Amino acid sequence: IVELSKRVQAIKPSPTLAVTARAARLKAEGRDIIGLGAGEPDFDTPQHIKDAAIIAINKGFTKYTAVGGTPGLKNAVIAKFKRDNGFDYTAAQILVSCGGKQSFFNLTLSVIDPGDEVIIPAPYWVSYPDIVLIAEGKPVIVEAGIEQDFKITAAQLEQAITPRTRMFVINSPSNPSGAVYTLDELKTLGEVLLRHPEILVATDDMYEHILLSEGRFVNILNACPELYSRTIVLNGVSKAYAMTGWRIGYCGGPEHIITAMENIQSQSTSSPTSISQVAAQAALSGDQSCIAPMVSAFRERNRFVTDALNAIPGVKCLLSGGAFYAFADVRETIGRLHAKGVIKDGSDIALSEYLLENGGVAVVPGSAFGSEGYIRLSFATTMANLENALGRVAKALG
Ligand code: PLP
Repeated sequence: IVELSKRVQAIKPSPTLAVTARAARLKAEGRDIIGLGAGEPDFDTPQHIKDAAIIAINKGFTKYTAVGGTPGLKNAVIAKFKRDNGFDYTAAQILVSCGGKQSFFNLTLSVIDPGDEVIIPAPYWVSYPDIVLIAEGKPVIVEAGIEQDFKITAAQLEQAITPRTRMFVINSPSNPSGAVYTLDELKTLGEVLLRHPEILVATDDMYEHILLSEGRFVNILNACPELYSRTIVLNGVSKAYAMTGWRIGYCGGPEHIITAMENIQSQSTSSPTSISQVAAQAALSGDQSCIAPMVSAFRERNRFVTDALNAIPGVKCLLSGGAFYAFADVRETIGRLHAKGVIKDGSDIALSEYLLENGGVAVVPGSAFGSEGYIRLSFATTMANLENALGRVAKALG
């Protein structure tokens, strides 16, 4: 049997996709399972976006495009960055990829050499550390628990920096915690980074539009424009426009990094899907009013799920500021159920398995996101499903 590469042995499959797959398997076996594992909006892609792609198919726009994205979509991305974020980019500073995941993959492969360190605040999106491992870099995890609203401090960032630090990743609104950094908080992180000019900044703004709290979206470049020449702004259409299956992400950044990322893409996947690019262009430059009804539904569910979780003794949950997840502190509950012998060990994995087997609810353990003692519940599902699911969770944990 052929030995696998050390690179691939260092990584694991995405745990969130695994939970979704396991829930689907149990359902197919006839079990009554409510899946709260999914990381995608339950809404359909808006009609005007689908129509644009249907027209593109019928017109025969079904061949390779420029590797880094069609001129039309790149222009739409440039206009979006200007309109929503106040950032100026040229076409050579934009790269369109097959989803936000590929954007981060291209970036990491372009800038990380073996042994280079990447600072990742936890809880983190599951793919950051594993993509860094594929590049043979070293993920340096900085923990921020519920006590600090899941946000790292400037002092923690400063402490994590070493001569090998090459990149800092920030994701706000955060998957999984729902935390949103304020402009002032971003400024204090930016001040640390200004003292370390060799560090690149990757800001993952995937949930920019799923802002559940009051106020405007801001990222670290708004707080600290001096970082422009070493910041990559990552975004995509997956979450904002319910387009996860279309696979389009995009980013803006320094030209030499974007060119390197494009080279990696040209030798791996080539251009993103032609028809998806037309759809993404329609999403970015079309009527933005399709976003508000989805956000308003997420807000209502956010309040419902948070209240329902906090009503369970031993469970603590903050109201999410963005994205569509509740990230609940279940350390007390784990301790209690473990002491009673109800769950097999004191881990969040055991608790999640118990919830799946005994409660019929699929959630993702916090350890998948680098934060042991929590569970993530996606509220990208109907209120009826959520009411049913939270009733089951309360019964199983109560
Ligand atoms: N970034 C974050 C924080 C995410 O949660 C996701 C998806 O779950 C992505 C990026 C990637 O999105 P996609 O590759 O589906 O565009």
